[in-house]
Formats: sequence, C-alpha cells, structure tokens
Amino acid sequence: MSQCKAYRASILHSIANPYDVGAENSYEYFEDGLLVVESGAVVSVGDAEGLLPSLPADVEVIHYQDALITPGFIDTHIHYPQTGMVGSYGAQLLDWLEMYVFPCEGKFGDADIASAQTDMFLQELLRNGTTTALVFGTVHKESVDAFFEQASKLNLRMIAGKVLMDRNAPEYLLDTADTGYADSKELIERWHGKGRLSYAVTPRFAPTSSPEQLELAGKLFNEFPDLYMHTHISENKKEIEWVSELFPERSGYLDVYDHHGLIGERAVFAHGVHLHDDECKRLSDTGSAVAFCPTSNLFLGSGLLDLERLEKQGVRVGLGTDIGGGTSFSQLQSLNEAYKVLQLQGQKLDPFKALYLATLGGAKSLYLDEKIGNFEQGKEADFIVLDYNATPLISYRLSRASSLQEKLFALIMLGDDRAVKETFSAGKSLHQKKFSKS
Ligand SMILES: [Zn+2]
Repeated sequence: MSQCKAYRASILHSIANPYDVGAENSYEYFEDGLLVVESGAVVSVGDAEGLLPSLPADVEVIHYQDALITPGFIDTHIHYPQTGMVGSYGAQLLDWLEMYVFPCEGKFGDADIASAQTDMFLQELLRNGTTTALVFGTVHKESVDAFFEQASKLNLRMIAGKVLMDRNAPEYLLDTADTGYADSKELIERWHGKGRLSYAVTPRFAPTSSPEQLELAGKLFNEFPDLYMHTHISENKKEIEWVSELFPERSGYLDVYDHHGLIGERAVFAHGVHLHDDECKRLSDTGSAVAFCPTSNLFLGSGLLDLERLEKQGVRVGLGTDIGGGTSFSQLQSLNEAYKVLQLQGQKLDPFKALYLATLGGAKSLYLDEKIGNFEQGKEADFIVLDYNATPLISYRLSRASSLQEKLFALIMLGDDRAVKETFSAGKSLHQKKFSKS
C-alpha cells in the first residue's frame, strides 16, 4: 500500500503567469501550510489548520520550522558533460567551444566516464533544488544511455538527447547525417516515454550540422509523438554572422531550423538573445520556447535577453543555467542574474515572476504543466524545502523582511544550493542538506 505523507511549512506556488494576471494574482501562499502527498503525487495543498483534521490519524506529518516549500526548479537548458569545465576563462562562444567544450566532450564515448559524470551532475541538480532539466548529452550515444540509466533509477523527470554534429567540429566528435539519425532513433526507442523520461532531438546548433543532417533531424522530430527538439539560437553576434554565411539561402537563423521542420511545440531554443521581431512572432505562432540563460549570457559576454519583448510577442520562456557556459547550477542564482540583466534594460523581475520562471513557466515552456510546475491536485510531487536560516546573512536579512514579497526577493538574491534543505522527486526525498556541527 502506498504511503501518504504530509509536509508542514510555509508553502508557495505559482498558479499563473504574472505577465497575464498581475503578480498579486499569480500565486498561492499558505503561511502555515500543508502539502499532502501519496503515491508520488500531490493530494492536496492548503492551510495546515484546515487540512490536518481531515487527515487519517496514521499519516506522518513532517514539520519544517523557518522554511518555505516550493515546487522543484525546472532547468530548461543545461549540458551535463560540461560539468567538469564550468568556470573556464576568457572566451566568447565560438572560441570557448573550441578551447574548452570540444576537448571535454570528446571523452564521453567511454560509458564509465559518462556514468561517473552523470552521477555527479544529478546530485548537483538535486542539491540545487532542480528536479527536471532539459539536458544536452554529447555526440556519443553512450553519453545518453548513461544519463537516462541513472535518471531512471532515481525516477526523475528528465529530458535529454544525443548531440547531432556532422561538421565544423573536431573529427573525434562528428557523426554523419545517417548515423546521427540512426543512433538517435535507437535511443528514442530505448528511452522515450520510459517512466518519466523523454527524448530530445538535439542538433548542437546550425553551424555544426549540414543541411542533410538538419533535414533528417526534422524528420525524426516529427516521427514520434511528444519528442522534444533542443538546440541553440542567436546567442552571440559572430555566431549569427557565421550562420548567415553557411546558409545564405535562408532568411535568418530561425529560418534554418524552420525550413527543416525543427520548430513547434516542444522545440526549445537556448538563448535567443539577438532574435528579430519576426523570429519572435514565428516562435510564438508555432508554440516554440526560448530558454533564458542569464548566467551564461553574462559569463560568455553574449548579450542581454529582452524578456519583455518575448513575452509581449507571446513566446514561451523557461529559465536555464546552461552549465558549463553558465556559472551556477542554482536557479536562485540564475534569477539573481536575470534580475540584473533586466535592470540593465529598464525592466523589473518581480519575485513572483521569478518563481514562475523557475517553476510553472518552465513547465509550460516544456509542455509539462499538466504534470509538474505547481501543487495542483494530481501533479507529480516534485518539491523542495528552502531554509530561511541557510546562512547567517540570509537569516539576518529575512528576519527584517516585512512582507512575503520582500522575503522571497531577498531569498532569491542571497540564496544558492545552501538554501536548499531538502529535495523531493515524485514524493521521495533524494537530497538532504548536510549540516556541519563544528
Ligand atoms: Zn548551451
């Protein structure tokens, strides 16, 4: 018999996009709340006082003091093989790929290396409160097998794919249009839809795929139901120039993907910092999504994403860390940098909007909002416990906050992995912060 458990603390979750309904109508908050979970799913959420009397007497209630329960974070763009090269010095996108990324990714044909890296990577995601991610592997199918094997053991909701790359990269990292298609198809048949796993057709970006490869990728994307498409777009100005040289017959960067059928629902484009208005409209019309990766865009000097413009055009936007171009696994840190990226453009990131981006907004951009993203009844119980006393400074600052908005904003600005006390996936605790008692 499955066990019912209840978690008592302050509870906050998004219920709508603040852009549509206003920040004050975008969330539910229970100061003394209760989240009831059974068989890995949410049974109910509400005020503890109201819900406790209705619980059967044998239900265990776990009470957290000075803590906030929120849905688990969703990372809509990250590269697991780049974990070991995060924080590499001194380059912008194209040089950075050659100097650091390609040599690092070259090792992932070795299943043991891929497996060890996956282990570290998944632990790091959980330590940071991230319960779902859209993940790049490498060109090697071993990299994706290793990733899915471990994600499956932990019953995590994860999306990943093998990189497609048949030109403009070192020989040791190239597939061909045909082998890329065949290997991806094999992985799809093995993993897509197994438990909580989904597959993403993953061309790295237009410059490293021939038109033939993009054509087969588009074919594949439309061949199986509910597949994802995951790539990069308009991150860096030199990259955009290169794309126009490589594909002179196309009207723009997005048109390269569009022409080959790599657009639509569950197509996620990382960055999109320098998109044109007509490209935003096309993304919106097709239900495609952009992954906003602020720590990466700042670290690699790529540019500032104009979030307001994307939202005005109706583009779905999720939040990504883009490890190893990004500098933190923590979505709290992504939001901290997102706030500054928007400040530099005269825009504000309300803390409830920030919460939305990292949870329900991410779920919507991945078409997973019927399964994850908030605490609606029946959704998968992926949630985290944030610690109001995570550091002396956080504790001190929050004790002086007079409203939920102020508290949440300060927690986002000051928080990182240290703020995550516990992480649950499908109702199971997979990470508990260790305390040193020195
Ligand atoms: Zn990336």
